[in-house]
Amino acid sequence: ANASNEVDKWTKAPCRFCGTGCGVLVGVKDDKVVTVKGDKKNPVNKGFLCVKGYSLGKLMNATENRLTKPQIRRNGRLVETDWETALNLIAKKYRKYIDNYGPDSVSIYSSGQSTVQEGYVLSKLMKGAIGTNNLECNARLCMASAVGGYLTTFGKDEPMGCYDDIENADLFFIIGANMAECHPILYARVVRRVRNSDVKVIMADPRETRTHKISDLDLFMKPGSDVALLNAISYVIIDEGLIDEDFINKHTHLKQNGKEINLDEFKSFLKDYTPKKAAKITGLDPKDIRKAARMFADPKRESLSLWTMGVNQQVQGVFINNAIHNLHLLTGKICRPGSSPLSLTGQPSACGTAREVGTFTHKLPAHRIVANKKHREEMAKHWGIDVDKIPSKPSYHTMAMFEAINRGDIKALWVTTTNPAQSLPNFNKYRKGLEDVFLVVSDVYPTETTKYADVILPSAMWVEKEGVFGNTERRTQHFEKAVDAPGDAKPDLWQFLEVARKLGYGDLFPYKDHPEREIFEEYRECTLGTGKDLAPYDAYRQKRGLMWPVVDGNETARRYVAPDDPYVKEGIEFYGKPDGKAIIYARENKGPAESPDEKYPFVLSTGRVVEHWHTATMTMQVPELKKAVSETYVEIHEDDARRLNIRSGDIVKLISRRGELELKAKIGGRGVPQPGMLFVPFFDRKRLINLVTIDAVDPSSKEPEYKICAVKMRKA
Ligand code: SF4
Repeated sequence: ANASNEVDKWTKAPCRFCGTGCGVLVGVKDDKVVTVKGDKKNPVNKGFLCVKGYSLGKLMNATENRLTKPQIRRNGRLVETDWETALNLIAKKYRKYIDNYGPDSVSIYSSGQSTVQEGYVLSKLMKGAIGTNNLECNARLCMASAVGGYLTTFGKDEPMGCYDDIENADLFFIIGANMAECHPILYARVVRRVRNSDVKVIMADPRETRTHKISDLDLFMKPGSDVALLNAISYVIIDEGLIDEDFINKHTHLKQNGKEINLDEFKSFLKDYTPKKAAKITGLDPKDIRKAARMFADPKRESLSLWTMGVNQQVQGVFINNAIHNLHLLTGKICRPGSSPLSLTGQPSACGTAREVGTFTHKLPAHRIVANKKHREEMAKHWGIDVDKIPSKPSYHTMAMFEAINRGDIKALWVTTTNPAQSLPNFNKYRKGLEDVFLVVSDVYPTETTKYADVILPSAMWVEKEGVFGNTERRTQHFEKAVDAPGDAKPDLWQFLEVARKLGYGDLFPYKDHPEREIFEEYRECTLGTGKDLAPYDAYRQKRGLMWPVVDGNETARRYVAPDDPYVKEGIEFYGKPDGKAIIYARENKGPAESPDEKYPFVLSTGRVVEHWHTATMTMQVPELKKAVSETYVEIHEDDARRLNIRSGDIVKLISRRGELELKAKIGGRGVPQPGMLFVPFFDRKRLINLVTIDAVDPSSKEPEYKICAVKMRKA
């Protein structure tokens, strides 16, 4: 039913899927979601939704395959049980391992799809109560390199820009992002801006995508040559006198290999990246590189950089982020309407739950870090615990955590709202660990990961519970519980609190009447005065989200602003750094971990299609989305296809040093990789491309290189 008069009540919510955070209105009748529509009052999407957002109503009614009863493994088989039995088993196992092997023998792997409240409770449970930093978040797989970029360049995480920059930008530099499919509503805002004015778009990507439809300048660079391209653009900006020297002097340092350098030294570093030299690395026409630099640095234009996984999921992810920031710092095009480096996120609360609350191993709530004594002291005081309880060293990043599981160092793992058996790269290497570890999985549908579980906990989904998500532009958005979860499914928050109490930590988790509110208020208190201040809970219940920092319940700044900063009028501050100055880094282009060679001559890249979200555990439940793209495929350039006598629809085998996979060939269509490159969407659980991908990680962000590995291909 879709007619408004068949609805008992409407409730607002951020979309369940991507990090854009579009607002929806959920229509409910007789405890059922009967319709979902775009929320015109929400400033993010102004009423528009993409195909996934429109499918939310159908998703909420796709209960046929839902997990509705707890299950435990008995004699090798999963059997249904009751909550008490399942939770007692988890508590018993966790307690046994903690007592026998120490707190570091247990772990939780959480998600950018968890609510802020869920993330905060996990952080408190693991770091404050159990006393281990074995808490990681799947956001490690998607935007850890963006975090690393912001931290190294500016001294603090999260973009200073916001979505309103789109309507103020005159030049879009879109690098490593297929926005038309992965961030369609933001792409629509870009398209509207481009159509209505003399606005230009530069696209840098090794693969032609739907996003290129609005491009004025295409830079189809070789995979893994991003730093070379960006350095070459920096070279031209300096060479042609397009820099803002006053800005550079006042607001930046320049550094190479940890040492201060001056602008001349930076320029001489860049001599290895003249457009001509960079052309050899990138495969681009030097004239196009010059053109891109002139377009970006044009003083009459506000320039907005947008990027996502194409940048972050490389072993040079952090360096590429730094090199993007360089363009803005060299030209002073930053922290003013329309000019900003704005990284895009993939999950609805990757920013809110992973970055702000601290479900990464190295973090604590409100962007604090475990390695900082003052931060540990502040959180220990806030939680009423001994400061020594919080370990000062970060524990395992995601891939290292699964290696520790392989080794048997971690004996228990609780996976919540994520699906590592499908999403971890080089999964063949990690399967055994998942088979052996005591594995708890909280989710809404059966997944690749639940196959390995010893305990499955059926979770409430989206508006079957109450919570808060934080989106890409630092907007915190609240949603009410609108309907009951099917069967015995329960919110993850309830599951965490029950286990915390059964483990004997009840005093630390005394929430009673309204846990979502009480937990949020407890979290909010530790944001106050940090520059990431949040508003009281009720403000979010009323409003269509608030971007932090919030003061007196209102958004005081749409981008970070420090009151004592001389550039305050322009909204510039980088106060994370001791002297308030950002850093322009001289970064070398080192290329990928694994390059193609004679034996494995193709570069394989993975990514998404608009119809499916991540591992498609939810979108495959919506018949229309499943029908639209029912199985994955490999995109091949027509020259390669001709040479290998492959036609669209043929079954081909991809083989890497780690695994192999058969899937259908696709030549032409929504994406066209360059010759020598292949592209595979990763949503299909029956055809796991992550058996083939590589698990090399960026040395500082520890984000895996999903975008580049070497494979060979033959007709199956
Ligand atoms: Fe949901 Fe993202 Fe689509 Fe917006 S763009 S409707 S947040 S999936």
